[in-house]
Amino acid sequence: MANIGVLMEIEGGELKGTNFGVLTAAHEQGKNDVYAIVPGEKADAYKDALAAHGAKKIVEVSVSGADLSKSPDLQARALAAAIDEYSLKGVLGLASPIGRDIFARMAADLNLPLVSDAVAVDFDQKTVRKSHFSGKTFATLQLDAEVLLCTIRPNAIEAKEASEAAEIVAFSPSVSDPGRVKVVDAKLSASDKMDLTEAPIIITGGRPIGSADNYKILEECARALGTAAVGASRAAVDAGYAPHSMQVGQTGKTVSPKLYIGCGLSGSVQHFAGMKTSKVIVAINSDKDAPIFEKCDYGILGDLFDVVPALTKALKES
Ligand SMILES: Cc1cc2nc3c(=O)[nH]c(=O)nc-3n(C[C@H](O)[C@H](O)[C@H](O)COP(=O)(O)OP(=O)(O)OC[C@H]3O[C@@H](n4cnc5c(N)ncnc54)[C@H](O)[C@@H]3O)c2cc1C
Repeated sequence: MANIGVLMEIEGGELKGTNFGVLTAAHEQGKNDVYAIVPGEKADAYKDALAAHGAKKIVEVSVSGADLSKSPDLQARALAAAIDEYSLKGVLGLASPIGRDIFARMAADLNLPLVSDAVAVDFDQKTVRKSHFSGKTFATLQLDAEVLLCTIRPNAIEAKEASEAAEIVAFSPSVSDPGRVKVVDAKLSASDKMDLTEAPIIITGGRPIGSADNYKILEECARALGTAAVGASRAAVDAGYAPHSMQVGQTGKTVSPKLYIGCGLSGSVQHFAGMKTSKVIVAINSDKDAPIFEKCDYGILGDLFDVVPALTKALKES
């Protein structure tokens, strides 16, 4: 039994859904006591959800007179102070832009090794698993460290309910801001579309989608699927059909949804680097010899402009 901290990410006043898989990783089916670390002073709103996913303690971290969300250095130092305060043997977070930023700063401050974008972790063995060489191989790394610091690929670990009687504790460490970085503005995307890295289902269009307007058929299908987001291949982005924020792959976003539906994708190594860890991969392609058919769980041979609307219709009817 070890004490493991998990940095919670909050967006628009809500806990991100992908936090829960990280709590599950820390809990290890009851092997560890999980400390959910919430920057700010509003942890009460999240108590039930955190307790239902294995948090034994909810640590509200604040630094007098400072807004932690405006200083990644200060947040990293406050998190590092929590390691001492609660004798944490590990701290996990999301491999998101925020998680990557804070954990790198904390690791540098503490002179500890950090593994980013892991898909599994074992605290007894002090091992983590992560993909290498654009997803061609998976490596198990053993860490020679007192405290294991690791960010987890969003959605890579399925969230499981694990009821604990979570207790909220306030923690205000005396840490100072080195003043190197200050967040002056955060520009949120105007779109209300679901973030790709958060989405449990993704439907992606490749080069044959042919125009930005044609993405509407994928958006309609995504709405019929429920909590789904729409992605794009680099070929589609380079052609100007979709913004780079929608690109999945080696030079785009890394995603790990429960269901990935690739429409008109050849199955390039670079695209697979970003979505290989999806739980179920469905390919829709009009060429029976397309390489993606060797790599998917289910293949549909057909024109995406026929198959996707038919799928949307069937989903709406069901
Ligand atoms: C350094 C580097 C980094 C890269 N990073 C990325 C990255 O991050 N993400 C990424 O996606 N790519 C990336 N690429 C590009 C990658 O190599 C491929 O060129 C790209 O993924 C191909 O996109 P695509 O599958 O949409 O298009 P294509 O390769 O053109 O494949 C289209 C597929 O659709 C099928 N098709 C055609 N018409 C239809 C239809 N009507 N219905 C159904 N199927 C149809 C075809 O049979 C074909 O298999 C990178 C390349 C390099 C060199």
